[in-house]
Amino acid sequence: MIRYYSTNRSVPEVSLDEVLLKGQAADSGLYMPTSFPPVTPEDFAAWRELDYADIAFSVLRRFTAGVFDDQRMKQLCRDAYDYDVPIEPVDDHRHIMRLDRGPTASFKDFAARMMARWMGLLVERLDRELVILTATSGDTGSAVAHAYQGVDGIRVVVLFPIDEVSTRQRKQMTTIGGNVTTIGIDGQFDDCQVMVKRAFADCDLANIQLTSANSINIGRLLPQSVYYFYAYAKLARCGENEPIVFSVPSGNFGDMMGAVIAKQMGLPVSRIVVATNANDEVPEFLRSGSYEKIAPSRVCISNAMNVGHPSNLARLVDVYGGWMDETGTLRESPDLDSLRRDIYAVSVSDDRTRETIRDMHGRFGLILEPHGATGWAGLTQYLEDHPDARERTAVSIETAHPAKFPEEIQATLGVDPAVPDSLKGIEERPEDYATETSDYPRFRDWLAKTFAP
Ligand SMILES: *Cc1c(COP(=O)(O)O)cnc(C)c1O
Repeated sequence: MIRYYSTNRSVPEVSLDEVLLKGQAADSGLYMPTSFPPVTPEDFAAWRELDYADIAFSVLRRFTAGVFDDQRMKQLCRDAYDYDVPIEPVDDHRHIMRLDRGPTASFKDFAARMMARWMGLLVERLDRELVILTATSGDTGSAVAHAYQGVDGIRVVVLFPIDEVSTRQRKQMTTIGGNVTTIGIDGQFDDCQVMVKRAFADCDLANIQLTSANSINIGRLLPQSVYYFYAYAKLARCGENEPIVFSVPSGNFGDMMGAVIAKQMGLPVSRIVVATNANDEVPEFLRSGSYEKIAPSRVCISNAMNVGHPSNLARLVDVYGGWMDETGTLRESPDLDSLRRDIYAVSVSDDRTRETIRDMHGRFGLILEPHGATGWAGLTQYLEDHPDARERTAVSIETAHPAKFPEEIQATLGVDPAVPDSLKGIEERPEDYATETSDYPRFRDWLAKTFAP
């Protein structure tokens, strides 16, 4: 059974069920698996014939064996992944993988749906209510709220930056109700994230079983490794073990950590292109070797990536042999040469993102939304810099459905993206949410009053 250690390395290793419940380690580090279960070329070959749910089972059971029963896991995968995962060819080599066909139309559904099912199993073993606390830059909140709605024994609290989410994004979370409470914070995503992290570390809240659905929880990252395997199995010449290029539009670096985990497990990845918006702290870090967060984070049209200090960076640094503590201080430098060999980080401006949206629509008739367009622009930049990689199979991730950003698409392309069934009708549903400042003590008191047993 795989164990998990904290990136701060001052608490004991724990098993997956504990990690899922804890979210963050007590020493404020992030949990990482002590080993990456290997995947072989024979696995890839076998996966060519499988659908997404079965590939998910085959990948994830390597982490869940001994914690969740295999038969149950198989069923959970079938249940969670009952929607399409289209991979659209753009030209001979380059593709777009659309991770926007889940119930809330962003890639966050992939992890939220699996985690909610894991948590549902775990809560059966607990004697108290589980409170899932999550900060969202727009899409996590709705994916989590949707995935956990109506799950017995679980309550969900979502904090979102009130001025930084689109109306449709907001309505997707505030119209659920029931066991889901949403709070609009007068501040930025980073403020919401800080409030959540403080609550986890707060001794005064120790009598509440708090856990996180943010990508500080490794339960978010494991399911996010699956689609990289899926893309490879469906596209690359597996028998020849041909390495593939992925481009991942990134904010908190949970999605790209899925690719890193897949690579560590043995997926032949030649480069992971990490495309950020103007929040370029990581591209700068890879360039210069020294890290500085951006505070306050810069407001860009790819709002789910307005992150001035990605929480998963500590994990990336850890995989490459360094140590970043919970304040974002680099205590030991990672192996920068290997990092640069595996990862190409690039910052894309809003202007470039809009140009990319226009260009892709004009040339290929494809509609990308601002996050996916950032990823595509990143890939384009990478291939310009590395002509030798142009013959490689490349996949750029589209992380959300264009209809989640109708104002931006309308302003850039002059067309209204078709609304998928999952987003239809939310305009009319009644909203229910509170608005608050980012004052932590007030939030703590509210949590204590609302959830203390
Ligand atoms: C969350 C999100 C991202 C960024 O993903 P990270 O895992 O935080 O890097 C990108 N695009 C969309 C649409 C998102 O919702």
